[in-house]
Amino acid sequence: MTRPTLTVDLDALVANWRGLDAASGPGVETAAVVKADAYGLGADRVAPVLAAEGVRRFFVALAEEGAALRRILGPGPEIFVFSGHMAGDAELIAGARLVPLLNDAAQVNRHFEALADHPFGLQLDSGMNRLGMEPAEFAALRDRLLAARPRLVISHLACSDDPSDPMNARQLKSFKEMAGDLDVPRSLAATGGTLLGPDYQFEICRPGIGLYGGQPFARAQPVVHLDIPVIQTREVAAGEAVGYGATWIASRPTRIATLAAGYADGIIRQMGNVAQLYAGATPCPLAGRVSMDLLTVDVGHLDTVPDTLELFGIHQSVDDVAAAAGTIGYEILTSLGDRYARQYSGGETDRAAS
Ligand SMILES: *Cc1c(COP(=O)(O)O)cnc(C)c1O
Repeated sequence: MTRPTLTVDLDALVANWRGLDAASGPGVETAAVVKADAYGLGADRVAPVLAAEGVRRFFVALAEEGAALRRILGPGPEIFVFSGHMAGDAELIAGARLVPLLNDAAQVNRHFEALADHPFGLQLDSGMNRLGMEPAEFAALRDRLLAARPRLVISHLACSDDPSDPMNARQLKSFKEMAGDLDVPRSLAATGGTLLGPDYQFEICRPGIGLYGGQPFARAQPVVHLDIPVIQTREVAAGEAVGYGATWIASRPTRIATLAAGYADGIIRQMGNVAQLYAGATPCPLAGRVSMDLLTVDVGHLDTVPDTLELFGIHQSVDDVAAAAGTIGYEILTSLGDRYARQYSGGETDRAAS
């Protein structure tokens, strides 16, 4: 087997959902964000396990993702679409019974014209300036929208990964000014906001990354494990170069292992000469650049070279790897390629339910 193995631990996923659910008040519902194929881990496996755990509201970015998720989940759960009601989406929204989170007056008009009695929610902009109605726009539409009874009102925090950032309180204040007196379920918090405490939780929290084992959920269990096979090892003498551009030069006689994964598999090229892999608990540095399909790793300090080295999982987190690439765990997960042999462990509740 030369394909690397990507193992998704569905029991750890459930433990993380429970951990985030416990981090919010007893009256607060914990939903799940499964956009981008559940952050690259496979919505077809992740979403049913969460539904069996009791998740009743799911969030995706696009109507197309929502329609696919409806086929996966069946008729029960509510599926919200962050991008709202885009031109051409009416059939998908109606057919899959999706709830678009309307983002501006044009989307409101489009929705009310095409699907007058179909459920909708609202996304308000509390300061991030990315998606959602501005306060003045919402004020102008408010009576008409509330009369049609939205299912949910949300906004999104720009800086919730940093509890000390004053942007959090500014956005909370803005959201309360718009939605504080609404008799509609409200949601402001993703993973970071959930951990900011009760003021930010409202009726529904909607974590994504924390479910999948990423920061800022510090107590997250690792969900994704990536083990990459060693194809070949060779001795190199002091002064010899390794890899494209000959950027790594052996400072001592050592041994180089060549592994079967590269940037085509989502191992970000920026990690070259910086990241490390693990042989058991022993770190082994990348030696040289990341190639399309291959990595070269200095294993000269190992007594025996194992069949595979771990990039992330038990000994190193997705966020550690992200740091070595100058990026965030979200990008590492959503970049995971499709050449991996994917395995799922755990998730017994799913099988029992289906
Ligand atoms: C992606 C996203 C989330 C989930 O955020 P995490 O940081 O992954 O928990 C929640 N809400 C919106 C609007 C999003 O775009």
